[in-house]
Amino acid sequence: MFLTGQCKKCGGRVVFDIGDMTNEEVEAYLKTSDFGECRIGYHVELGKKDAYYRINWYPAFPTVDAAKAHNAALQEAVNQNIRVGG
Ligand SMILES: [Zn+2]
Repeated sequence: MFLTGQCKKCGGRVVFDIGDMTNEEVEAYLKTSDFGECRIGYHVELGKKDAYYRINWYPAFPTVDAAKAHNAALQEAVNQNIRVGG
């Protein structure tokens, strides 16, 4: 299964391929894995993944393409909220 999420630091939208892991297993993984370099914003962090990633636990998607489409729709919604001038 695939979950969508967002980097708390740069706002980059990501997809998590969690395979058959339960939410609890995913949480445990994020708490013990180094964040490293953000694949979206390319910043490097010393903390663990759970400090920098916000995960949308619902809905879960059966395919990576469905998860990416969800992220794209969210991004589009954000873009439509940007107003300049009157
Ligand atoms: Zn980032």
